[in-house]
Amino acid sequence: MLPRWHIFWGLILSIFIWFFHPEIKIIYLLLVFLSSFLIDFDHYLVAVKNTKSLSLQKAFNYFALLGKNELNRKKKKRKKDPLMIFHTAEFHLLVLAVGFLEEAFLFIFLGMFFHSLLDIIWLIKNDRLHKREYFLINWLRN
Ligand SMILES: [Zn+2]
Repeated sequence: MLPRWHIFWGLILSIFIWFFHPEIKIIYLLLVFLSSFLIDFDHYLVAVKNTKSLSLQKAFNYFALLGKNELNRKKKKRKKDPLMIFHTAEFHLLVLAVGFLEEAFLFIFLGMFFHSLLDIIWLIKNDRLHKREYFLINWLRN
């Protein structure tokens, strides 16, 4: 899913939370909103590593090309996408665990979890669910 849609849905989620809990601290709403799309920063890190450039435009082009190449070899051997560290179950659990020590991280977890749900829906709709590695432990084993 494109970042702009994550920003849009993150805003909708934040407004929804604020509507039902208007007493919530603004900083917590902001954390939900920001984490609902900044989790994709790992995509940028992967693009920087593979393109050897800090350019955001090159990062977008890199993933556009990755998507196109995937369409071309759909029937051939299906290769996994690069590991997205912030999208792994382990990273989610780490943020949730820290959330029990520092409340603010529970809101970061909420934004990240919401983001991942949207990603999974998008991956299912685009027949790419198998492309992502969801567990760091599996990636380390391979
Ligand atoms: Zn994502």
